Amino acid sequence: MTIKAILFDMDGVLIEAKDWHYDALNRALAHFGYTISRESHLSTFDGLPTREKLKMLSAARGLPEGLHGFMNALKQNYTLEISAMRCKPVFNHQYALSKLKAEGYRLAVCSNSVRQSVETMMKLSALDPYLDMLVSNEDVAKGKPDPEMYLKAMDALGMKPEECLILEDNDHGIQAAIASGGHLMKIGVPDDVTYHAIKARVAEVEAA
Ligand SMILES: [Mg+2]
Repeated sequence: MTIKAILFDMDGVLIEAKDWHYDALNRALAHFGYTISRESHLSTFDGLPTREKLKMLSAARGLPEGLHGFMNALKQNYTLEISAMRCKPVFNHQYALSKLKAEGYRLAVCSNSVRQSVETMMKLSALDPYLDMLVSNEDVAKGKPDPEMYLKAMDALGMKPEECLILEDNDHGIQAAIASGGHLMKIGVPDDVTYHAIKARVAEVEAA
């Protein structure tokens, strides 16, 4: 089977944004006297949409549900503010995506973030010219771990799941990737995302 499309998770794969989301959520929560520890953010909350994180905080710690809409908007504003300062082009990623694009692969980003964050971060990291499509959590009924956003990208690009390689870094995303039927490339940190590493994984999948 030939790999024809490469689908990227955004946070933790193309962008080192774990800290940005953590800082943005805590800045929003701080107005109401709540905080999340770094440990619980990494072990429990990482990779989930903000609205899921807020539901979990209401269930576990009594955060009033009436505040969810406001907190969500506040958090997204802080995320944009923080990314405007910290999001920069990364040479290895620009090199990888431009080479893959030139070789004819279709490329997409599928992220549990809201659309404005995905668009802004892809622009600030100068990766947007190489991407055929962006799928955000606003484009699907169910975010990851549901496979809907990967299935949506595959459908829009005219690909079968087995023609797609999916780069994911955390449990929720990996569950979504596996459930979509695509091939997984597990990423530890964004620095692992290089042209050579992706091509090596493509060769491995195609040889299997
Ligand atoms: Mg991720």
